Amino acid sequence: MKTIGHWIGGKAVEGASGRSGPVYDPATGAQAAEVAFASAAEVDAAVDAARHALTEWRVSSLAQRTAVLFRFRELLAARREDVARLITAEHGKVHSDALGEVARGLEVVEVACGIPQLLKGELSTQVSTRVDVAALRQPVGVVAGITPFNFPAMVPMWMFPLALACGNTFVLKPSEKDPSAAGLLAELLAEAGLPEGVFNVVNGDREAVDRLLEHPGVAALSFVGSTPVARHVFTTGTSHGKRVQALGGAKNHMLVLPDADLDAAADAAVSAAYGSAGERCMAVSAVVAVGDTGDELVAKIAERARKVRVGPGDDPDSEMGPLITREHRDRVAGYVRGAAAQGAEVVVDGTGYTVPGREDGHWIGVSLLDRVPVESDAYRDEIFGPVLCVVRAETYEEGVRLVNDSPWGNGAAVFTRDGGAARRFQLEAAAGMVGVNVPIPVPVGYHSFGGWKDSLFGDHHVYGEEGVRFYTRAKVVTTRWPDPADGGVDLGFPTSR
Ligand code: NAD
Repeated sequence: MKTIGHWIGGKAVEGASGRSGPVYDPATGAQAAEVAFASAAEVDAAVDAARHALTEWRVSSLAQRTAVLFRFRELLAARREDVARLITAEHGKVHSDALGEVARGLEVVEVACGIPQLLKGELSTQVSTRVDVAALRQPVGVVAGITPFNFPAMVPMWMFPLALACGNTFVLKPSEKDPSAAGLLAELLAEAGLPEGVFNVVNGDREAVDRLLEHPGVAALSFVGSTPVARHVFTTGTSHGKRVQALGGAKNHMLVLPDADLDAAADAAVSAAYGSAGERCMAVSAVVAVGDTGDELVAKIAERARKVRVGPGDDPDSEMGPLITREHRDRVAGYVRGAAAQGAEVVVDGTGYTVPGREDGHWIGVSLLDRVPVESDAYRDEIFGPVLCVVRAETYEEGVRLVNDSPWGNGAAVFTRDGGAARRFQLEAAAGMVGVNVPIPVPVGYHSFGGWKDSLFGDHHVYGEEGVRFYTRAKVVTTRWPDPADGGVDLGFPTSR
């Protein structure tokens, strides 16, 4: 059995806590590896390595940092297939989707390669006689990243490329369900010439996270995961004086207005609801059919949904893979089975689906629920599986109210041909990322990613300019080189006049 340890101080380190957990191949249901769970002492060792490395890395030149990042970019691009295969083996998503995940991570690495431009400060000369003011940004220190299972390579890359580019050192705690991709990223960073200790990986569960939240040597924490854990991380981390950005769960709505191209809307709904088996924080999980579009739209979605090919992620014929664990599959199936009793119409039922020869895999087919009551569990909870709920709304206003009444506010989309309605939606939707005729509006690397309400705790979104702000502290320097003629004591408050 393969065992997965940690990466501390520039090398692989075996787990020493005596605690560990299984990593499964979701397509077979068989255990593929055993991952070590770090104790508080092992987390301390990683933080110590990061603190030690910080002394030199924080003052390394921008050219030194970008040289490493450019090399890392090339290595990652060359090894993208290997990273994608590791993702598919432990997460289950289909290979093309895993490659897409790596590509979106690479985007952020490329933005980080441009850090000299992003870190340029500001200078105001002559704010008062012979007085200049400069604004600069400096690294915060040791940064921790805690990441979810659904993007084992991309979400870490939302964080560490910019954190390192800004001069911080990093400790990553990946999801214990699919930890191997993070290990490979650590090796590639080392191969790219990153000094020892600048990037560390500790595997583990709550024990490791709680130590990071309390550790006095950790200055800032980026978290991505479910809302209850995001809230815990934000509350505990900030109470220990740390800067925290904690991204939580989602229930993304897609409004389809009566003038929309219903074929395009149905294509988009099926792609966004069932891609990666619905295990995406930007998945569309609720379609709001506005006006009289409902019956036709549901028929078009159902027709497409029935054709989605579910199978192993390494089979090029598969469009959707299995779910991450058996327990999660059963939980998702429970929502579909309970939906009818709570008033929904089950149009497509994916429960009970299996792949011949791989019956122990974590399989479920796609499900489509129509006329889902807003009080039902299927509508109210984040299911995080291939289940699409359709809700009917009579008017645009009623549809927007559903978006805005949701406790989450990650993404929201509108499908329409009416520019005025689309513009109104952009301004009125209470969500951090809005799509107009785009179902998964994940911002490109040079913008920033983040939701509103229970989808993000903290002030800063991730990556892009917001990422640079999160990973740096602002400093303002006021300078005067006095003329010998300037002199004298003045107890008044300094003003520029
Ligand atoms: P999760 O919250 O269970 O786990 C996330 C991380 O927190 C993991 O590293 C895990 O080990 C750790 N963790 C789990 N329970 C903990 C606890 N009680 N105390 C401390 N640490 C704990 O999330 P997941 O199941 O891995 O990922 C799916 C969730 O992540 C979904 O809710 C999804 O919407 C969300 N997500 C959000 C975004 C976003 O950008 N907002 C992106 C991806 C995923």
